[in-house]
Amino acid sequence: MDSSYQVKRFQINCPASEVIEKILLQAYKNPVLMQVFEEHFVSCSRCQKFVKNIRTYYEILEAELEKPISAKVARFADSLGTGCKKS
Ligand SMILES: [Zn+2]
Repeated sequence: MDSSYQVKRFQINCPASEVIEKILLQAYKNPVLMQVFEEHFVSCSRCQKFVKNIRTYYEILEAELEKPISAKVARFADSLGTGCKKS
């Protein structure tokens, strides 16, 4: 999607949830879009709530990825061909 088009849209409307996630995950690729979203974000309770929820999601995901996996889970992953390390 064209960045200038997105910039104009975010100044008026909330971006879709998947677009917000993409903006946050790829902020380094498009800092102008991130800045426009931040300007929208500071005055939008809907986007603030979504960002809070997605932050919680990634905190939980990160914590889960740090935990060792059981042998049963490792066998299951091996059966899928993912090549997980056993703990
Ligand atoms: Zn919003």
